Amino acid sequence: MQPSAPKPQRPCSHPGRAVLLLTGHRRRVVQLLSALLYNLNMPGFATGSIYRGVSKSICVPGLNCYSCPGAIAACPLGSLQSALGAADAKLPLYLVGTILAFGALFARTVCGWLCPFGLIQELLDKVPLPKLRKGRWSRRLSCGKYLVLILAVLLLPLSFGLFGPAPLPFFCAWLCPAGTLEAGIPLVASISGLQAIIGWQFVWKAAMLVGLVAIALFVYRPFCRFLCPLGALYSFFNRFALLRYYVDHSCCTQCGACVGTCKMDIREVSDRECIQCGACARHCEQGAIRFTLKGLLGTASTTGHVVRLGTKDASAADSHMTIANTSGHVADKNNEP
Ligand code: SF4
Ligand code: SF4
Repeated sequence: MQPSAPKPQRPCSHPGRAVLLLTGHRRRVVQLLSALLYNLNMPGFATGSIYRGVSKSICVPGLNCYSCPGAIAACPLGSLQSALGAADAKLPLYLVGTILAFGALFARTVCGWLCPFGLIQELLDKVPLPKLRKGRWSRRLSCGKYLVLILAVLLLPLSFGLFGPAPLPFFCAWLCPAGTLEAGIPLVASISGLQAIIGWQFVWKAAMLVGLVAIALFVYRPFCRFLCPLGALYSFFNRFALLRYYVDHSCCTQCGACVGTCKMDIREVSDRECIQCGACARHCEQGAIRFTLKGLLGTASTTGHVVRLGTKDASAADSHMTIANTSGHVADKNNEP
């Protein structure tokens, strides 16, 4: 039997409960600051040299190429592939721990707030051109990133590691457009010796980047939605991460405006496709969507009842979310091109 929908009481009115409600321009500032912090080695862009200091053994949460001349830390995806592709193929415990920590704390908040390549795609989306709206087609394509994660980031490097050391991390070498933009092009531009030895691998990756940039002018964040294995990895943590959006079901009317407004291929707020950007929170007339330390503080309903993860009440809240999803799905269908 379908659980009954919660009766809308009134717009949420307990702002003191919201630890953070950061949206709009503040998110853009955080995106810019994180891109700057990841790439503090500015002189590297002029000299074409790659920074190799001690901080390069630490991973940043977002997709930022290790070989970018500005990068002062490593990319989690590149590090993971290198570790899996190493001759001894040992489980890279430090790396797994780092990714688990980023996932548990932020999950796809990293995609929405802390990823320079996500920021670039959002800026491309600002170019005033006709946009292709999400629909069943994009939801299907959004499974592509899991395929890339399994094949290019896990299986291929691991099989190289087991049957012979891999000279190159597969995803970085053949697919990653962030690497081409942040490392390949700046290095080729500043080192004349490299220009003389450009091969078809570089041409392939440059063509991929151009194609992706062209698509990003018409489709919102296509790399994040359809191809990014880091987003795929973090997506598994999205429902449980400490810092994330949640819906206060005591004042949600299941109008579906959140799902209809969202440009990602979500079925409900904070599901695997949600990048925690907060656009939906600005469009929820009930004020039911909040950004908070969900796991620590719980979700306060208007009756003052606190729903915590892993309790019966949390299951009830999840049931309500299914209802919101149903109405949201209709709204989404209406958006289909
Ligand atoms: S926008 Fe979403 S969270 Fe807000 S009332 Fe409508 S369905 Fe509920
Ligand atoms: S559900 Fe809301 S927070 Fe998540 S991606 Fe969509 S608009 Fe952003």
